[in-house]
Amino acid sequence: MLRTMSTPGKEPTAEGEAARLNFIEEIIEEHARTGKYDNRVHTRFPPEPNGYLHIGHAKSICLNFGLAEKYGGQCNLRFDDTNPTKEDVEYVESIMEDIRWLGFDWEDRLFFASDYFEQLYEYAIKLIEDGHAFVCDLNAEEMREHRGTLKSPGKNSPYRDRPMAESLELFKKMRAGEFPDGARTLRAKVDMASPNLNLRDPVLYRIAHAHHHRTGDQWCIYPMYDFTHGQSDSIERITHSICTLEFENHRPLYDWFLEKLEIYRPQQIEFARLNLSYTITSKRKLLTLVTDNHVSGWSDPRMPTLSGMRRRGYPPSAIRLFCDRIGVAKFNSVIDMQVLEKAVRDELNAQAPRRMAVLNPLKVVITNYPEGQEETLEAINNPEDQSAGTRQVPFSRELYIEREDFMEDPPKKFFRLAPGREVRLRYAYFVTCQEAVKDPQTGEIVELRCTYDPATRGGSAPDGRKVKGTLHWVSAQHAFDAEVRLYDYLFTKPNPSDVDDESQEFTANLNPDSLETRPSCKLEPSLQAAEPGKQYQFERLGYFSADPADSQPDQPVFNRIVTLRDTWAKVKGK
Ligand code: ATP
Ligand code: MG
Repeated sequence: MLRTMSTPGKEPTAEGEAARLNFIEEIIEEHARTGKYDNRVHTRFPPEPNGYLHIGHAKSICLNFGLAEKYGGQCNLRFDDTNPTKEDVEYVESIMEDIRWLGFDWEDRLFFASDYFEQLYEYAIKLIEDGHAFVCDLNAEEMREHRGTLKSPGKNSPYRDRPMAESLELFKKMRAGEFPDGARTLRAKVDMASPNLNLRDPVLYRIAHAHHHRTGDQWCIYPMYDFTHGQSDSIERITHSICTLEFENHRPLYDWFLEKLEIYRPQQIEFARLNLSYTITSKRKLLTLVTDNHVSGWSDPRMPTLSGMRRRGYPPSAIRLFCDRIGVAKFNSVIDMQVLEKAVRDELNAQAPRRMAVLNPLKVVITNYPEGQEETLEAINNPEDQSAGTRQVPFSRELYIEREDFMEDPPKKFFRLAPGREVRLRYAYFVTCQEAVKDPQTGEIVELRCTYDPATRGGSAPDGRKVKGTLHWVSAQHAFDAEVRLYDYLFTKPNPSDVDDESQEFTANLNPDSLETRPSCKLEPSLQAAEPGKQYQFERLGYFSADPADSQPDQPVFNRIVTLRDTWAKVKGK
């Protein structure tokens, strides 16, 4: 069931306008009032190209690009590519594709932190010359020992007070490639006793003889993320540098750098990252799913990645609607997956043409329908959208309905087909079940023999008699066979990290039934030409779209995007 959710941020009004400002908008409007940043709004989305974007990133993208749009400002795309061993052009390309797909445009403002490596190096030189940084010869383990804990202060490095000129020379040699990986680091001289561990003489540069996807072998020292992010924002003259809460206690360090370097200072604002139930929004864990083959790749339709959602058939507008509905907050929470699925349904209900498909076929023979006869019946494409018009659906003597729509011995509330029972076939006729034919060996029902009432063409009876059930169906000779893939949540627990004992990994909570493949479903003929990515509602079954990777011309493979709110919701009669 859908849980009602109190949105901590803005509540959309009927017009979709923000009724009140979220806390970030309040800060921006306050800056506009006081003239800080000359009324400019310039944000950025700063992904690290070490994985594909997920739904959490969508929140950040909608926020950053959305604020720029709302206030007539600009939003940059900047890759924070400081970690060459984990990064790749494949990720850069997928990230750009995903942002465009979501509907945002960075125009000519595509940047890479690696474009600033020379400038960052100059900044480091300045810090050394001004006595704010030093080259440290401690190895990683020694450095950890010196670092102290949350409760106890750290110890100064024995190299902290080495002469400025010596640090300068060593740093230049680091750059020149004279030392092996890990031999030395450049560190800031802040305060080893600070209660904020980030301020305990953090490392600014490390030696890594690694090939970078953009700068090649030009560098063998790389700036740390913390020494890159704030200065990159400063270089790009970002006004509002929006990031997730875990960076709150990095802010004093970023401000320290900007102050010591005497350069332009953006305003950092932290918000709560998006967590979604029954899935994960950690790139590291998503990478594990990919490399350990728990899924078919980053774009597996079960993945919470934007490319997975695109492949599954989510419309980008639904993701934007979802991000708008959840708003932004200052405290961490978990959003129910149902909130996302509801946004998908709300979008598709309005947009998606209706079609008929049978996923678990049971043959029906209409014994009083003349053999060899066929006709077409008019079906409404979208009851929510008159302009979508109608289409012709073929009808004949042999049909398929869902196996679940028949019961030999039905309980009281079962309003579908049963022996002697009359139901409506959507857009067609009233039919009455006369007999269920069984396989003599197994006892399995293999066919229903029914009669139809020719006076009920179109789905209503001239004598005014009513039926309780309306079933979808396809004509056996006209339908085509196709594979349909049904999805369930990727994990069995709302919080996948909630493992039973410590020896387990989050993968212990993977849902073994997250993918169900139905190899030979029976689909209405008009679906044969379905364009991959175009969404349909299969009546009573949910929303579906043809898989862009596995569909062939005239042989689509369908993914279920999402079920209808109530899978077996009653379909209103005509
Ligand atoms: P991970 O922790 O999975 O590695 P990340 O935060 O390091 O993710 P980045 O590529 O650095 O990933 O993220 C780019 C931007 O997206 C950052 O500004 C980050 O704050 C934001 N972001 C990442 N995950 C989320 C999330 N779950 N909710 C909201 N924003 C997010
Ligand atoms: Mg990050």
